[in-house]
Amino acid sequence: MKLQGKSAIVTGAASGIGKAIADLLAREGAAVAIADLNLEAAQKAAADIEAAGGRAIAVAMDVTNEDAVNSATDEVAKAFGGIDILVSNAGIQIVNPIQNYAFSDWKKMQAIHVDGAFLTTKAALKYMYQDKRGGTVIYMGSVHSHEASPLKSAYVAAKHALLGLARVLAKEGAEYNVRSHVICPGFVRTPLVDKQIPEQAKELGISEEEVIRRVMLGGTVDGVFTTVDDVAQTALFLCAFPSAALTGQSFIVSHGWYMQ
Ligand code: NAD
Repeated sequence: MKLQGKSAIVTGAASGIGKAIADLLAREGAAVAIADLNLEAAQKAAADIEAAGGRAIAVAMDVTNEDAVNSATDEVAKAFGGIDILVSNAGIQIVNPIQNYAFSDWKKMQAIHVDGAFLTTKAALKYMYQDKRGGTVIYMGSVHSHEASPLKSAYVAAKHALLGLARVLAKEGAEYNVRSHVICPGFVRTPLVDKQIPEQAKELGISEEEVIRRVMLGGTVDGVFTTVDDVAQTALFLCAFPSAALTGQSFIVSHGWYMQ
């Protein structure tokens, strides 16, 4: 067990990538808080971890709401005696060309991805900085932290912003033993991606099969989707890494879609 005695908050952990990360961190001995807008699904995810012998709690958290983030983080720190790992993962996707992109949608995207990352970080640092306890903060970026795609102005801008936040945290957090990382997955079949397949097909005037083959997997070296387990294993590797040598870096997990 690589994370025995550690405690973690994973946002957006009621589904998809966040759920897989929470499951793996718990299997490796961490006490895990499933923080999600969808409390019912978060409770189910936490119950599944407990049934498998792990330690987990569910907390309701809208990552765009400062009071909700602070009170849920305080609740987790109280339950687990501190916070060692934050995985800021909650996210959504809204696709549209810029000329049709509603400003309200743009602001919603920035609020969840960028404000959410900032607010959860600030709340967790209160505990990680205490007595220089330290910790690991992982932001869920994307290949779109490095690369652009049509229809995704708000997402690409938000995911690029996470690189900046992670780099500042690497510098500010060092004296408190806090490290930061960005994981940048390629396409992973989760509800977030399944929803955009028909949307992209309609917007681009191509079939759903072509969206998968050309748009989603066309840039990979082998035409294979990245999996939630690929991303979870990367998160575990970073959480368990024994030094700060990797702080401030992004890690692209994409079957070669984007190479740095
Ligand atoms: P998902 O839809 O399966 O899960 C997202 C979770 O976030 C849901 O449980 C949802 O309830 C929660 N959530 C949404 N808004 C929230 C809010 N305001 N506060 C708290 N929780 C909220 O999606 P996923 O594919 O697992 O995506 C997770 C992260 O991974 C996102 O940041 C996404 O941008 C990123 N990502 C996904 C892919 C992919 O291909 N699926 C690729 C790269 C990056």
